[in-house]
Amino acid sequence: MTASDATILNPNDRIGILGGGQLGRMLAMAAIRLGLRPVILCPDENCPAAITADQHIIADYEDEAGLATLAAAANVVTYEFENVPAASVACLTRLGARVAPGATPLSIAQDRLKEKEFVRSLGGKTPEFYAVDSLEDLRAGLAVTGTPAILKTRRLGYDGKGQTRIGTDTDNLDRTWDAAINHAWAEVGARPSILEALVPFQCEISVIAARGVAPDATGPAPIAMYDPPKNDHRNGILWRSTVPAPVPLAVINDAKAMTHTMLEALDYVGVVGVEFFVLADNTLMINEFAPRVHNSGHWTEAACTISQFEQHIRAVAGWPLGDTTRHSDARMENLIGDEVTAWQNHLATPNVLVNLYGKQQIRPGRKMGHVTMVSA
Ligand code: AMP
Repeated sequence: MTASDATILNPNDRIGILGGGQLGRMLAMAAIRLGLRPVILCPDENCPAAITADQHIIADYEDEAGLATLAAAANVVTYEFENVPAASVACLTRLGARVAPGATPLSIAQDRLKEKEFVRSLGGKTPEFYAVDSLEDLRAGLAVTGTPAILKTRRLGYDGKGQTRIGTDTDNLDRTWDAAINHAWAEVGARPSILEALVPFQCEISVIAARGVAPDATGPAPIAMYDPPKNDHRNGILWRSTVPAPVPLAVINDAKAMTHTMLEALDYVGVVGVEFFVLADNTLMINEFAPRVHNSGHWTEAACTISQFEQHIRAVAGWPLGDTTRHSDARMENLIGDEVTAWQNHLATPNVLVNLYGKQQIRPGRKMGHVTMVSA
């Protein structure tokens, strides 16, 4: 769905959500508060969003009967993870469903090569990259990117999965150069990949932004952006997001301007998360974008009147976007694996908003909840 073919939902209408993880759960909670009814399609009966679903279609993402039920039930369909099969969105569209953000942002964000080409086509900067389909390509690519470099699968990578580094100290301690290259290729499963120069960034920031639907079809679609947080990772997984980010205003404005260009180019409807590397000279490179609400935007539920989740629901429902002003400084931390067992300590800490995802099993690296500390 694009901003030009959107229709406006009414309270009690149904929002379909592909995916039942924590993002689906938080989207559904926002939808419920706005009087909408979430219909969730997720194969896992006990997924985090199940409890928030007015209707839970338990089916695989490519199950045509399940998708047909969703298409018939929902006034608009959105998704909470970017690895939704393209065929599922095509099937929903064929069945007459309106899907937002549409198939185009999804297909670009699903493929790291397409994503970088898209960013560059808009004049944005990215790390140097090279498409790798074979061991020979990998060798040729290393001549282009230099080392250290990072090899990532083109598709289906997230939270640092499906990627490996080449030419860093730790890689080479006990391997010859040839062995290191072979090892990296095996690490990504010898799959179509992209090789990127490892950028010596100062910090990472992200822009969480929304594009909605014009009140009259002819006007420009509204765009609203939150203050970009600084993001810190541990083991490739987002650990902490801090606002305000300690970067000059000009950097923030550049990041917002690039995000604006991307949203317009995609005729986007919904919330997007765009990740940037900030270099020592305060220039920016885009790492990736997610066509959905984003982990680095979770602080908005504590520090803004309208959270990213409500903002996304408003956008896909064709409703006016909310105010993105931040009323507090904030620091969001993910509770990963057994960190969640400290939930009582967080509850006992003043000015902390606790969000637990209700996942029944704790696993290392699994996002179990998050906490946001706010300060005046
Ligand atoms: P990604 O899955 O692409 O978001 O990568 C996960 C994390 O790895 C990023 O948030 C960065 O911290 C790091 N990373 C990824 N690509 C690069 C790169 N080209 N240069 C430096 N660090 C990177």
